[in-house]
Amino acid sequence: MDIDTQKQKSIKESVVEAYLVKKTKARGGRAVKLAQITGRGFPDRTVILPGGVVLYIETKRPVGGRLSPHQEHWRDDLIGLGCRYALCSTKEEIDETFAAYDESGAYERHWGCPPRTFI
Ligand SMILES: [Mg+2]
Repeated sequence: MDIDTQKQKSIKESVVEAYLVKKTKARGGRAVKLAQITGRGFPDRTVILPGGVVLYIETKRPVGGRLSPHQEHWRDDLIGLGCRYALCSTKEEIDETFAAYDESGAYERHWGCPPRTFI
């Protein structure tokens, strides 16, 4: 095992998740934990970004982390509903997810819509 792999293996999921929360806050968003309400398998964080864009992100440790059947079910369900879902096992994958969101233009499109209130 090389040094990089050993280093990655020592990183826990909580470190990856904390990085996601930090990066979300830096964008002025919220990274909410809803699993206690939704039940088993729901993504670790529901990331709400300025403009009302929502990303569902499951975090894992860099080495050896894999989705459970309940998590696979939620992934397929959310993607099937047209939601933005990402599985992130490293800090780099979190950066890539935000970069893909930036490049999609979703943020700008949402800012183009007037805010609405549903009663
Ligand atoms: Mg997780």
